[in-house]
This record gives sequence, structure tokens and C-alpha cells, in this order.
Amino acid sequence: MNYKRSSALFAQAETVIPGGVNSPVRAFKAVGGTPIFVKKAKGAYLYDEDDNRLIDYINSWGPMILGHAYQPVVNAIVDKAKKGTSFGMPTEIETKIAQLAVSMVPNIDKIRFVNSGTEACMSAVRLARGFTGKDKIIKFAGCYHGHSDSFLIQAGSGAVTFGSPNSPGVTQGTAKDTLLARYNDIENVTQLIEANKNEIACIIIEPVAGNMGCIPPKEGFLQGLRDLCDTNNILLIFDEVMTGFRLAKGGAQELFNINADIVCFGKVIGGGLPVGAFAARNEIMNHLAPLGPVYQAGTLSGNPLAMAAGLAILNELNSDAEIFNRLEEKTTYLHNGIEKVLTENNITHTINRVGSMISVHFDKAEVVDFETAAKGNNDTFKKFFHGLLNEGVYIAPSAFETWFITDALTYEDLDFTVEAVGRVSETL
Ligand code: PMP
Repeated sequence: MNYKRSSALFAQAETVIPGGVNSPVRAFKAVGGTPIFVKKAKGAYLYDEDDNRLIDYINSWGPMILGHAYQPVVNAIVDKAKKGTSFGMPTEIETKIAQLAVSMVPNIDKIRFVNSGTEACMSAVRLARGFTGKDKIIKFAGCYHGHSDSFLIQAGSGAVTFGSPNSPGVTQGTAKDTLLARYNDIENVTQLIEANKNEIACIIIEPVAGNMGCIPPKEGFLQGLRDLCDTNNILLIFDEVMTGFRLAKGGAQELFNINADIVCFGKVIGGGLPVGAFAARNEIMNHLAPLGPVYQAGTLSGNPLAMAAGLAILNELNSDAEIFNRLEEKTTYLHNGIEKVLTENNITHTINRVGSMISVHFDKAEVVDFETAAKGNNDTFKKFFHGLLNEGVYIAPSAFETWFITDALTYEDLDFTVEAVGRVSETL
């Protein structure tokens, strides 16, 4: 395929935008080469600036669950835009989407809208600290909760008591309040809690990890966290930025039948516009300003275009009883197809999947945490990525990402993808 125009646009971008991109993983650093510049997208396909058509498995890193330029979402945005794009004042549509979200998600009474997943997680942690009066938090190595300071803590040995910054600019003072645990290791979390008695405000977790590939929680792990939180007066925060409105109407809480204390949303809830949200029961949410002392605000929060897009997508998901089954069936089909051709070509691999989240790891051991995810063969991944791109199949440009399946994908698209994987695996 020809990527001449994309390459030229990237060269121009590099002169005025750091690394040519507004979010680092887009720069193809992990896989080499230059990024694809998108001209437009419709349904399951991206069209790049060189007029190549690519089957999209990134889907804006999750939001486009029903495909690109989904007509009800586009219509809702256009209608709203004609009436003004931002007021910084209350609008009825904010209550409508809040009512719908609260009705779809178990165990929440109130929801507050923000502009990104980062903001949602950052605000959720502040609320947890304000509510419990404690400072420390536990996060898991390999989980990503956005780029706010408390979360940019190096993945190291899970048992380290004091985190150290992995990004210059994060102070030691901030880092020391973030404790790192190993995903899927309840013993490790128990030890951290014992070592920091009465100091931990919350445990924040991706209930299905999606930022080290896709890693399912082991049987009993989330329940174990719930029990530890109950015993130790710690709030459990589910970061459902990826899983919310994707794995089930009520997200991972519904899928695993575990109640979190605070739930964070992003991606799908905005229908492709910049939206995040956090939600909890009244007792906790009433601690937020203006009702309570924990401050949180936003000029563009609840923006009418963003709310219109979000409401349109949630309405579609809420009214389609089969959507989550259909997504799971398509993803299972893809899983089985890829499994078969990789096995036929003797490629060492492990495939992880939960619902419509899936990842291919080039290692034969079970991938259960950051350490095992990091063992995957990155050289094989790079070849796999570029091989697929050349076939017109676009997966995330890093081995630590999840593929997101959209309902716009047809079985022909999935067959095309499996055949492409087959051809590429002959070259690995
Ligand atoms: N939490 C999770 C689980 C995420 O996957 C992401 C983004 N990939 C975020 C938080 C941060 O969201 P945003 O990029 O919208 O700030």
C-alpha cells in the first residue's frame, strides 16, 4: 500500500506538534514506520489520506461500538450544533443522559459528566479521598487510568510500598501515595493493605484490563477486592472507561455481578465525542460540590454536542436487546478464526478475550498480569502489525492494546481479517 500523503502530513505535523501527534501511541513508536492519517471513516472502515481502505479494530480506542459516522449519532450532533455549541449553563439533555445512564448501570444513583476518561478517574480518586478522609490509593501495574499525576506510576514489583514516578514532572510527594499491586494477585493486595492499615482511600482497577492487552480478572479476584474493601473501609473504584456500555448494558459490574463504590466511564458514553463521567450511590456523590466539600468542575462539562452524541448511542444500546450478544458472537468468531490460522502456521501465541475486547499475545504462557503481558515477542508483533496494515487491517500500533470489535463489522470483514492473519502469519 502507498502511504505517501500520510508520511508527508506526518512530516508537517512534526514541525508544530510534539512528535507529530496529540497522544503518544498514535506516533507508531512501538512498531516503527509513520502513522496513517485518517481522511474519513464510515461503519467498520477507515479511509486514509492515500485513499486506502482499512478495516478498523481500534475504533477510536473503544468509543465507536456501532461503527463510524453512525447515523443517529451524526444527526443528534448536527441538530444540536444548529442551536449553539456551548453555554456553560444547565441543559435538559444532561438530565436525560444521566437518567438513562443511571437506569442502565447497576448500583449508581447519580452521575457527573466530565470531558475525558482521565478527568473521570482523577475526580473519582479525589472524591474517594474526600469521602474516606484517607490519602493512599492502590492501583495495579499495567492498568491505565489516564495521565493524571497519581496514575503515572511505574509498573514495578507489585509489592513495592512506595511508588516512584515514571514520568518526569510527577513529584515524589504524589507518587508516594500510589501503591502498586499485581493484577489478579489478591494476596499481594492483602499485604499492601496490611502494611498501610487505615491509610488507603480506594482501590482503582480496570475490571477487565485493557491497557496491557486484554486481561480478564481471574475467578474470584474482583469479589476478593470487594471483600477486602468492605473489611477495611476502602472504596472500590471500577474504571469502566473501556468496559462500560461495552461488555454489557451495565458494564463489568453487571457482567461479573460485583458492585463497585465509584464507577468511571469514558469512550462509549460519549459516542465518539470527548466525554467521561463518574458515578456512585447518593451517599458518596453528595460529597461533591456544590452539595459537599469535594471540588470538581468543568467549563465544557455536559457540553450539548457531547451529551447529544452520548445520549444517541446509549439509546441505541439500551433499545437493542441483542447488541451485546451479537458483539460477543462476532468476537468469538474472530477469536476462533485467528486461533486456527496462527496454530496452523505454528506461531507461538495466546489470545485473550472478554466480550468484544480481544488481544493477541506472542507468547505461549497464560497472560494474566503486566509481567506476563510484557513477555510477548515484540519483534513478532511489529511484523504482525505491519503485515496486517499492508493487508488493509488496522490494529493498535502496540502490543499492549486491546482490539475493539464494532457491530458494524460483517462476517465477511471478519473472514477477510482471518485470511489476512493467515497470510501474514506465514511471514512471521
Ligand atoms: N481509563 C482507561 C481504562 C482507559 O483505557 C483510558 C484511555 N485509554 C483512560 C482511563 C483515560 O481516558 P482518556 O484518554 O479519555 O483521558
